[in-house]
Amino acid sequence: MRVLIVEDETRLARSLARGLTAEGFAVDVVHTGTDGLHRASEGSYDLIILDIMLPGMNGYRVCAALRAAGIETPILMLTAKDGEYDEAEGLDTGADDYLTKPFSYVVLVARVRALLRRRGSGAAPELRVGDLVVDRTARRVSRAGAEVGLTAKEFAVLEHLAVRAGEIVSKAEILEHSWDFAYDGDPNIVEVYVSALRRKLGPGLIVTVRGAGYRLVAAHG
Ligand code: CA
Repeated sequence: MRVLIVEDETRLARSLARGLTAEGFAVDVVHTGTDGLHRASEGSYDLIILDIMLPGMNGYRVCAALRAAGIETPILMLTAKDGEYDEAEGLDTGADDYLTKPFSYVVLVARVRALLRRRGSGAAPELRVGDLVVDRTARRVSRAGAEVGLTAKEFAVLEHLAVRAGEIVSKAEILEHSWDFAYDGDPNIVEVYVSALRRKLGPGLIVTVRGAGYRLVAAHG
């Protein structure tokens, strides 16, 4: 899952990015409205966290411009406590939810997860592929009823394969969805995570399609 943070308070942006990265999200941060609009128009994000008071272009205008361009990525607006702007205006411009500063990190993560669950077809909270169960809400994985402990990044890779179960998913697609924009290292890093997943989950689930990528198939191990 990829998240774009558009926030000009660098300390807040940095701590949000750190927290969401630890939760297994791939996070990009920009500090101006214009960069936010640009990046959100180009990148394939699953969610955008958008501050309202931003240099360059305010959050309302960024949000309205994205919606006018047909980009339906869920947007969580961050509003200032002084109520300078009201929430109704944020929702009118196409934001999906809003959060008033200062907010607790726990509340932010809960809102982020709720918005991701609400999204159209990818919204299933639990993915079942054969005897594999990926619980996207609790971030837990089990196979044949036995829980399997995964790192945040392993979970992100498996989740993406499970959302697209039965389809061939290329390394580049896995990278794009599970790593942030700044990662421009070797795409073969994906192989490392796939081997770890195979070791932990057991045989038969993740099939290599030579030269094309991977496919998650229903298997009973
Ligand atoms: Ca601001």
